[in-house]
Amino acid sequence: MQFNARYPSLNPKLYHEQMPVPLKGAKAGHFNEALADELQWSAEDKASWVEICSGQKTFPEFHPLAMVYAGHQFGQWAGQLGDGRGLLIAQILDQNGQTIDLHLKGAGSTPYSRMGDGRAVLHSVIREYLAGHALNALDVPSSNSVGFTTSEQGVQREKLELGAMMLRTSDCHIRLGHFEWINQYQPSLLQEFTQKCIEWHYPECLEAEQPILAFATKVIQKTAVMIAKWQLVGFAHGVMNTDNLNITGSTLDFGPYGFMERFRPNWINNHSDYNGRYTYQNQPSMAHWNLWNWLNNLIPLAKPEEKEKFKQDLAQCLEHFEPTFLEHYTHGLCAKLGLPSFHKDSFDCGMAFLRILQTEQLDYTSSFLRLQNKEYEAMKDDCLDRRQFEAFLTQYEMIRENQDIGTLDATMFEANPIYILRNHMAQKAIELAERNDFSEVERLFSLLSQPFTRQTDLEKPEDLAPLPSDVPEVMVSCSS
Ligand code: AMP
Ligand code: MG
Repeated sequence: MQFNARYPSLNPKLYHEQMPVPLKGAKAGHFNEALADELQWSAEDKASWVEICSGQKTFPEFHPLAMVYAGHQFGQWAGQLGDGRGLLIAQILDQNGQTIDLHLKGAGSTPYSRMGDGRAVLHSVIREYLAGHALNALDVPSSNSVGFTTSEQGVQREKLELGAMMLRTSDCHIRLGHFEWINQYQPSLLQEFTQKCIEWHYPECLEAEQPILAFATKVIQKTAVMIAKWQLVGFAHGVMNTDNLNITGSTLDFGPYGFMERFRPNWINNHSDYNGRYTYQNQPSMAHWNLWNWLNNLIPLAKPEEKEKFKQDLAQCLEHFEPTFLEHYTHGLCAKLGLPSFHKDSFDCGMAFLRILQTEQLDYTSSFLRLQNKEYEAMKDDCLDRRQFEAFLTQYEMIRENQDIGTLDATMFEANPIYILRNHMAQKAIELAERNDFSEVERLFSLLSQPFTRQTDLEKPEDLAPLPSDVPEVMVSCSS
């Protein structure tokens, strides 16, 4: 590994150094060797992956640390939070020279654990491990994981579960909530911290006339692109709080999440989201809310006499959110449908298709595949309102008339995954893993590595099967 320990150069008030506390009887879960290669792990590093991913081995080049941050949770100020059960154990360079954080989740309690035990349990580690891998393969910016380990140590949740650890990778663990913590508790650190964020993550903004505004615009745009990509693959984050969004727009801190099966825009995947704040359809506006809240934390960076003008400038930065989101979403939706994004009616036609999925309660992922495979008659036969489908099809075919169909069809194959991580798939893998059988984790890991390619040797019929109409969507418990 090639180390680049840069977070420890920040003011020590921003973190607490401590070593991981291993679990009893730690043993291998799963290892992502391809990712380890990208991260330039040596043969020796790879040979000791179980020790590294279980906190038994750390590195002299980096003193593990827990970061402090704060956040708004479900719209309410939650005060100080922080790495309550995870430690940044290294920052290393990947094969492209990019700095990547290695963050060990479940490594024991820290000063920021509040009432928690500092541990993670096997079922949630597997959910995060597979989802991060799936999103990366779907080209959605996201944290990933080099590997996870299980143990013989019981950890109490709603029931007694197995303790586990996961070595998460991300281009950034600096959350919107870092800025909230600094403003609330150590405002004198804001200037230097912001400067470092720009240097590390958006160095091109240093050349801008107003680097802070350029930085804010970039964060807004990256977040908007991430959310558009989530929506296109049907992913919904269950806890989009300001402490769970980072400044590089890559998915972080899964907890409850879901890949949508039946298309239902007001679907809630988190059992604890009583008011439906983070429904699938609310995710863009909740990201906007989080960013608006974050921008307020940049206001103190302005000189007193320029504050009013700076506030207006920040508000203008936020105006980039909606067009960036819409551009990416529209482009992606058109690709999924095989429609030209420049055609004035394509977006309307896409919305008509989604309305059919909604009223007929059809499966999101497989409906796009059926359209791609031109199963028009069969799709119509499955609709209660056949006229609605016919009207859509007429418009659809009219738009595609005289277009380069070969190219449009090819974009569909690149935009429509065959495999997503359906809840029951993760659940099956978890149940076996809890009995020490990781074969299903391995199968899903391989399958989800190439979600756009048919893998008949690996797939099971239920990987593709829509939820039966009498089975409700699962809400995932926050307990992790
Ligand atoms: P989350 O919503 O999962 O991102 O967690 C919110 C906060 O609670 C973060 O600061 C976590 O580090 C902390 N946390 C969650 N679970 C635990 C746990 N079992 N022990 C200590 N801290 C935890
Ligand atoms: Mg979190």
